[in-house]
Amino acid sequence: MDLYEYQAREMFGAHGVPVLPGITATTPEEAHDAAGRLHDGLVVVKAQVKTGGRGKAGGVKLARSPQEAHDRAEEILGMDIKGHTVHTVLIAEGADIAAEYYFSILLDRSNRTHLAMCSREGGMDIETLARERPEALARVPLSPFRGIDEGVAHEILDAAGFTPEESARIAPVLVLLWEVYRDEDATLVEVNPLVSTDDGGIIALDGKVTLDDNAAFRHPDHAALADTSSEDPREAAAKAAGLNYVRLEGEVGIIGNGAGLVMSTLDVVALAGEDLGVRPANFLDIGGGASAEVMARGLDVILGDEQVRSVLVNVFGGITACDEVARGIIGALEQLGERAHKPLVVRLDGNKVAEGREILAAAAHPLVHMSDTMDGAARLAAELAAASATTSAAPAAPPSSGPATA
Ligand code: GDP
Ligand code: MN
Repeated sequence: MDLYEYQAREMFGAHGVPVLPGITATTPEEAHDAAGRLHDGLVVVKAQVKTGGRGKAGGVKLARSPQEAHDRAEEILGMDIKGHTVHTVLIAEGADIAAEYYFSILLDRSNRTHLAMCSREGGMDIETLARERPEALARVPLSPFRGIDEGVAHEILDAAGFTPEESARIAPVLVLLWEVYRDEDATLVEVNPLVSTDDGGIIALDGKVTLDDNAAFRHPDHAALADTSSEDPREAAAKAAGLNYVRLEGEVGIIGNGAGLVMSTLDVVALAGEDLGVRPANFLDIGGGASAEVMARGLDVILGDEQVRSVLVNVFGGITACDEVARGIIGALEQLGERAHKPLVVRLDGNKVAEGREILAAAAHPLVHMSDTMDGAARLAAELAAASATTSAAPAAPPSSGPATA
């Protein structure tokens, strides 16, 4: 889960990382109020969207009075930044910046380690810096046991070319940021810019935090940080239905039982669809008990997705045998009625496969195609998706009754 900047700053503050006070606002009037309550001097009005480069896009503006904060908020609220609409702004006390630095800690999966990155040249887009002047960005792998103590902090700052005097001021903040990363089970803590102020203070002026959802069970307080408004509505519906669902970009809906089977089904469909130009539309693991009820909920989520053109149901019967799964599929299609209108390729194997296939054959549902192998099923599902893509791209009106809605 990614946090908004204002949430990251609150989290930093709770761990003792120096941040400037701020208040969120959703209207220009609230922004006016917030600026008045903060202090007399400079405030900064910042778009709260979960994407970087807000400054460059005009989503970060300085204001010298509550009236200016009102006007800047009016400009920023409703703005679109890289596809994210701004609904909230943070009104924060402004800093007098002497220098902008970059610091982050992240989970470096490819090297199987935690990594600290640090640069004297903060504020700008870090990807650009990493590409154009890689020598200006220090990368220091971290031991998960030692993390960042004063000694490691000095190594990192030395590697980034800070003077001993600067390092002495910055090191304690790096130690605290490591504590945020470790204690909150984060996979990313990024501060860009980490600033040095005119009076020699160090302040985290921006914050980007990603929390590891797999550790949510030991952070009951993290649930309150979840932002249901910007969630994909289908993912939210699936989560509410207790389904393990991730939406992807493609056209072939996928349902399977067991995360490993579903992952390999995605691979096989991606391969089968490569030359047809179709890809998997989602990950959906319905788990062990593939009852009609669960199957119906899964199918409902997938069939409601307008990008989906065909669905592949890939089930390996275990404790829940194939005959139950087959009845589940038929039951689900009955429950869904009109809402089920896309071709379904079903591949069953494992416990009671013969019975399962017989049930599907006997039902002879017009939308259901059977395939005995995973490769065959993937190929067929990809072909059906590709065929339907060409049909629906044709200019002819659909043969439905009812008035045109386009
Ligand atoms: P981002 O563009 O989404 O990363 O947003 P940031 O919070 O990093 O802000 C972008 C830039 O705005 C910073 O690099 C600063 O140059 C400037 N900025 C942000 N807050 C302040 C502030 O309190 N005072 C001043 N003078 N500039 C600020
Ligand atoms: Mn930033």
